[in-house]
Amino acid sequence: MNILLLGPPGAGKGTQAKRLEERYGMVQLSTGDMLRAEREAGSALGKQVQAIMDAGKLVSDDIMIALIEQRIGQIGGKGFILDGFPRTVPQATALDRMLAENRIALDQVVEIAVDEAALVDRVSGRFSCKTCGASYHDRHHRPKQDGTCDVCGGHAFIRRPDDNAETVKARLKAYREQTAPILPYYRAKGILRSVDGMAAIDAVAQEIETILNKAKG
Ligand code: AMP
Repeated sequence: MNILLLGPPGAGKGTQAKRLEERYGMVQLSTGDMLRAEREAGSALGKQVQAIMDAGKLVSDDIMIALIEQRIGQIGGKGFILDGFPRTVPQATALDRMLAENRIALDQVVEIAVDEAALVDRVSGRFSCKTCGASYHDRHHRPKQDGTCDVCGGHAFIRRPDDNAETVKARLKAYREQTAPILPYYRAKGILRSVDGMAAIDAVAQEIETILNKAKG
């Protein structure tokens, strides 16, 4: 099963994608993670996208389409979870072309719907374990023992440079203006479902599972 998770920054796409990876052995394809890895590696692409990402704006369609095109053919039989791509209508139509060329079907698109007012608070407080990637929040979900990851016991934590209140507002604007228009595109194809992203993480995961089980038939 191949799915796409849609939703604004802070909706919980990454968290839910990780759950699906663990539970079903699916592969998460996160373009944000790919770009952050390029930056970490100090590659030409990483340098090119740095300022755009830190401003909360979208990287150009050409760059993003080329990036995902390299990966899509290498997935093999495991299902994938697209997280963060497509983010514009041209990216969505390019994805359709790539999938058709590789004879891959996109089975389900799940929108994680959230109340925008809650997102600035959600995103601006988040941080994660540098070792295992487990996510935390300054106010809503601190490690049980301050400074120690609950999952792996690691002591190093990281914050994304674009997870600050000002940049989050720009990212929300980009979502509203450039990404939300792809919802009708998938609704028209009859594969779009929506879940309540304001519910607890486990409840959202349960809703997504129900949708996927129904789609399997
Ligand atoms: P994310 O981790 O998905 O929130 O992505 C972090 C940042 O990477 C975004 O704010 C954009 O600057 C950039 N980015 C990731 N995916 C895309 C995409 N599909 N199109 C354009 N920019 C993207």
